[in-house]
Amino acid sequence: MQESMPVNKIISVTGPIDVNMAGITDAHNHVWIESVLGALYRGPVLNNRDAIIHEIKKFHQAGGQTIVDCQPGGCGRNGWKLLELSKTSKVNIIASTGFHLQRYYPVEFWIFRSSVDKAYIFFLDELTKGLMETQISSEPVKAGIIKIAFEEKLEKSPLLLVQAAVYASLETGAALEVHIETGSNIEKIVNTLFDYGISANKLVLCHIDKIVDFGLHSTLAQEGILLEYDTFFRKKYFPDENVWPLLISMVEAGYSSQICLATDMADSDMWMGRGGSPGLIGFMDKIIPRLVSLGIDNSIINQLTGFNIANCIGRQIN
Ligand SMILES: [Zn+2]
Repeated sequence: MQESMPVNKIISVTGPIDVNMAGITDAHNHVWIESVLGALYRGPVLNNRDAIIHEIKKFHQAGGQTIVDCQPGGCGRNGWKLLELSKTSKVNIIASTGFHLQRYYPVEFWIFRSSVDKAYIFFLDELTKGLMETQISSEPVKAGIIKIAFEEKLEKSPLLLVQAAVYASLETGAALEVHIETGSNIEKIVNTLFDYGISANKLVLCHIDKIVDFGLHSTLAQEGILLEYDTFFRKKYFPDENVWPLLISMVEAGYSSQICLATDMADSDMWMGRGGSPGLIGFMDKIIPRLVSLGIDNSIINQLTGFNIANCIGRQIN
């Protein structure tokens, strides 16, 4: 009898799930952020439990199945809350290890003074043993991706940590979701990541739709990188003039396998529970219907809204 290839798994906060069970997936979002004592900058806070549960449930009722939560430890993540939100709503939540922009952390936070080795072990432990805040438990919550952030200037970015994150990705097969700033030099960032050895098929460039440049996007897609678009509900980025036409051009040019969609709602008043709109459900009741009305093939819509990101973050688990 021929042995069949084991199915790749996604590590969600409740445990591994088959890649093909991820379903409709918001590729970059934030469902819980605690306030960070002593942080240099008052980052967004998302801690209204009941309102959050209400919205995640609505996302699920509308057919949404998975959310990648991109808040790494030390800047507001709480693995236990992610677990509770997932269990209550039945939505798969994928937690992050890694690091965010320095301004979201307390001054002198240890990770930014860490060696490559120490950071590597830390990321590896969070991916394979459990998130720092849950490691004391007999059933710790594991990270499913590595989220890292480049400051606007590459030279100001913690490159030792970038290196450690790439090594943790190479060791585990975990995907790297990379925050980039609007003014960043993307080629320099990508070259740095490739120099450290990252596999293109494990690399997700977040918020890349803020840089509306078809030439750049098609080059990155050709390199095999996954491009994450998330400005659909951000008026200041003029989505009707920018992300939508860019997305259509990319799909028409045949790059639908290299794009994933998200709503990244940390930074804004888009949660209905905070009096905003369109809420988490916007992914389901605004973005997907618009893709349908544009006449985009169902199979392509599936790629953009789940298949591509699930494939990227899925990995072999022993
Ligand atoms: Zn984000």
